[in-house]
Amino acid sequence: MERTFVMIKPDGVQRNLVGNIIACFEKKGLKIVGLKMMRIPRDLAEKHYGEHKDKPFFGPLVEYITSGPVVAMVLEGKDAVTTVREMMGATNPLKAAPGTIRATYGMDIGRNVVHGSDSPASAGREINLFFSPEELVDYRRDVDRWIYE
Ligand code: UDP
Repeated sequence: MERTFVMIKPDGVQRNLVGNIIACFEKKGLKIVGLKMMRIPRDLAEKHYGEHKDKPFFGPLVEYITSGPVVAMVLEGKDAVTTVREMMGATNPLKAAPGTIRATYGMDIGRNVVHGSDSPASAGREINLFFSPEELVDYRRDVDRWIYE
């Protein structure tokens, strides 16, 4: 099983989409192994989006992601990284495939509601940035035998 880092961005929280977005992942069969609401300090935002530091949208992106509380989570499941990316849809919500979270809830690339790690390596890095090992919970889910063959 693979783990990925997912975050409901400040616009998702302000727009009361926390429950809906978590429900999408839960109903799919992904297991929540870490979950918290937090404000992202500026230095963490800059580290998290470090790969974009030379892009023109970096400043506004850091402003956006630190502008209000977020809900950070770690989800576990088969091919969790790719599965979450596909459920989120393309970065620009107007280009995202119908039915994806960004297509359903978003209009603008700079307000795209949700983040998900783009590779297993990013997932490992982002999980470590946002969660301490004690915040991640190992538990058995009885329903797994109805989700996985
Ligand atoms: N972003 C933006 N303008 C752009 C490209 C990206 O505001 O032209 C923001 C957007 O919130 C996006 C984040 O920067 O989710 C990270 O960009 P990336 O290309 O890594 O997209 P993602 O992996 O989030 O789909």
